[in-house]
Amino acid sequence: MLPDYFTLVNGQKVPSVGLGTWQLEGGKGYSAIKHALQNGYKMLDCAFAYYNQEVVGRAIKDSGIAREEIFLVDKLANTWHSAAEKNLELTLKSLGVEYLDLWLMHWPSPLNHHGNDPKTPKLADGSVDFEKDWDYVKTWKSMVELHRNYPEKLKSIGVANFGVKELEAIIEATGVVPVVNQVELHPSCNQQQLFKFCGDHGIQLVAYSPLGSIGSPLLQNEDLAGIAAKNGVTIPQCLISWGVANGWPVIPRSTSFERIDQNLQLVELSKDDLFEITRIGSQNKHRFVTAPWHSFAEI
Ligand code: NDP
Repeated sequence: MLPDYFTLVNGQKVPSVGLGTWQLEGGKGYSAIKHALQNGYKMLDCAFAYYNQEVVGRAIKDSGIAREEIFLVDKLANTWHSAAEKNLELTLKSLGVEYLDLWLMHWPSPLNHHGNDPKTPKLADGSVDFEKDWDYVKTWKSMVELHRNYPEKLKSIGVANFGVKELEAIIEATGVVPVVNQVELHPSCNQQQLFKFCGDHGIQLVAYSPLGSIGSPLLQNEDLAGIAAKNGVTIPQCLISWGVANGWPVIPRSTSFERIDQNLQLVELSKDDLFEITRIGSQNKHRFVTAPWHSFAEI
């Protein structure tokens, strides 16, 4: 049986499937989020940098679902590393909630808070404008302190897009292990070294872009289509179920009510099918999410 929840080291229960909210904006985004909450989704993955938090907040409120029924994840934005407390306040205000279940450092990449762009500030030569005299270890220290000082606002803290090197650095500096590391995870990017390190340190991996994001070639793969047809489901359902079977929560995003509903219906794949999906991915290695402010160690 595939689990409905994964339990973090601190005892928090994270639903196996949540709704990603990147690009869920305006009326369409609002309807998608509200529909998901009213039809069984118990986790929302949000971020300050998605600039849609009022929409998310309104959808939560109008869904009629009690706040404590939702595992709400949000992320500290790159341009706010040196002003983490203010970013947390703004996040809670725009979402219209009293607390987050999980707050993640979105990237280990502090960018200039006073730069020429709130998302990706650039220097005159076009290169990324990083925050001077700051680093992600300092940011993690701020998050640890905020978690200690405001446990009623932050149930737990974690990171995203961290590799082994960055995880080692923050753990060594603070002794505080993030409960979650949210990274790109699907058959074409299954990050085996990171998986082992996180397993050894009690860090729960969470799979973002589990379908391979926009225009994913995985959704056109004929071998995957064969496995999906054999099991009477779709490729996205196979990919989401493969992730949960491997031991991590997944956060697919869709604007379509039908696909939102479909993505919540997991399928118990045989060991052979799971192995075959892993094999297909390993022959088509690819990372879909890249960023000019970070270079990844593995895919
Ligand atoms: P996904 O892997 O979830 O893929 C989304 C795409 O797949 C959309 O184009 C969607 O189109 C389509 N889709 C969804 N369900 C189905 C289905 N059943 N059948 C066919 N097509 C489908 O991509 P994301 O990159 O959005 O990742 C998911 C979430 O992960 C994000 O929304 C965000 O919350 C998080 N994330 C976090 C990052 C980080 O840095 N921490 C980075 C990237 C993502 P349609 O809407 O038309 O259905």
